[in-house]
Amino acid sequence: MPSEIAVWQIVEATARKLFESYGFNEIKPPLLEKRELFARGIGQETDIVSREMYCIEEASGDVITLRPEATAGVVRAYIQHQLYIHNSVQKLFTIGPMFRRERPQKGRYRQFHQINAEMFGDSGPRSDADIISMAFQLLEILGLENLSLKINSLGCHACRPMFMDKFSVFLANCKNLCTDCIRRSQKNPLRVFDCKVSGCKDALLNAPSILDFLCDECKAHFEELREYLDLLSIPYHIDATLVRGLDYYIRTAFEIQTDQLGAQNAVAGGGRYDGLMRILGGPDHPAIGFAIGMERIVALMEQMGKNPGAPPLDLFIACLGKEAFKKVLPVMKELRYKGLSTEIDYGNKSLKSQMKLADRLKARYTLILGDTELNSGIALLRFMPTGEQKEISVKNLTESLGDLWKC
Ligand code: AMP
Repeated sequence: MPSEIAVWQIVEATARKLFESYGFNEIKPPLLEKRELFARGIGQETDIVSREMYCIEEASGDVITLRPEATAGVVRAYIQHQLYIHNSVQKLFTIGPMFRRERPQKGRYRQFHQINAEMFGDSGPRSDADIISMAFQLLEILGLENLSLKINSLGCHACRPMFMDKFSVFLANCKNLCTDCIRRSQKNPLRVFDCKVSGCKDALLNAPSILDFLCDECKAHFEELREYLDLLSIPYHIDATLVRGLDYYIRTAFEIQTDQLGAQNAVAGGGRYDGLMRILGGPDHPAIGFAIGMERIVALMEQMGKNPGAPPLDLFIACLGKEAFKKVLPVMKELRYKGLSTEIDYGNKSLKSQMKLADRLKARYTLILGDTELNSGIALLRFMPTGEQKEISVKNLTESLGDLWKC
C-alpha cells in the first residue's frame, strides 16, 4: 500500500547498495519457469514441490510454474547463459515476488517478496562467511534488533548417508509420526525435520544429530565457518535440526530469526547447494545463497516506527482560473524535470480548499496565482512552516522557483 511503500523502497535501496559493495550484480530472472526445473532442483518430496506450486498447463502439454523460490531460476539462467565463462566466481542477486500455495496468515502469504543472493564458483567456508555476513549486515543496517542466527551442517554425499541410515532406523521406531511423516520417513527422511506437527517435533527431540556424522572435510568446513563468524562478531547458535525444507542443501544451512514476529519468526534463510548445478544440467560448480522475506522485514520496520511515510511536497501551486493554469503548466513541467515535486489542484477549487490541500500534502512552499497576479506580474510565494510570504515575478517563474532550491 502507498503508506508502506517508503519502507519497501528503503529495504530495496539498502540491499542494492550493500550487495553491490560485496560485488553482487543484479539479475532479473522470469517469474515463470518449467515445473520440471523446480521438481528436479528442489525435490519432489518437499512441501514446496509436492503441494505449494501454482502450475499452468499449456496447450502443448508443458507445465509452467509461478516460481516458488528464486535459486532454481537463477541457476537455470547461469547455465543457459554460461555466466561462468568470464568469472570463475559469480555473485548475483534478485528482488521480486515468489508464489506458494500456503494457508495465508500474518507473515505468510501466497504471493510474497524475497531478496535473494547467490554466489557461484567457490566451495569453501570463506564464501559462506562472506554471504552470511552480507545477509546479517543488511538486517543490521535496516535497524532490526534481537536477531538470532542459526547454523547447521547437513554433511555431504560422503557422510550424510551414514546419518540417514541411523536416522531411518530411529524414525522406524517412532510411534507418533503424522501420516505425511510416515511417508516422508520412507521416501525422504530428512524432510521429517520440516514438519510443523507438534507430535513429530516431540518425536525428533531424541533424534541422532547430523553433526555427529560429519566427515573430516565437512567438520573442518563447519569449524572454519564458525571461526569466521566469531571474527565478524556475528552471534550464532548451532541447531542440528535445521534442514531448511529443500533437498538441494549440502554442508552449511542457516536461518536468521527474530523474536518480534510471533509464529512466522524466520526472516532469512539459506545454505550451500554444491550439487544443484549438475542436477540441472550445468557444470559441477559449487554455490551458496540465501533469501530474505521482504514482508517480514517491512513488518518489523513498521513495528519499530521506521516508516518515514511519503516525502513532503516541494511546491503546491494554488492556481485560480484557466489562464493561470496555462501559465503554470509548462512551469511545472520544468520544475519536475529539475526533480522538484510540484502539485496543483486539477478541479479549479476555491483558494481556501486549495490551501487545505497544500497543508494535507505537507507542501514546503505554496505559490498563489490567479488573474490578479497575472495582471500585476507579481505572485505570492508562501513558506508553509512559518507562513512567511514573499513576492516573486510571474515573468520568470521557472527561474525564480528553481532558484529557491539552489541554496
Ligand atoms: P525459504 O525460501 O522458504 O527459505 O524462505 C526464505 C524467507 O522468505 C523466509 O525466511 C521468510 O522470511 C520468507 N518467506 C518464505 N515463505 C513465505 C511466505 N509464504 N510469506 C511470506 N514470507 C515468506
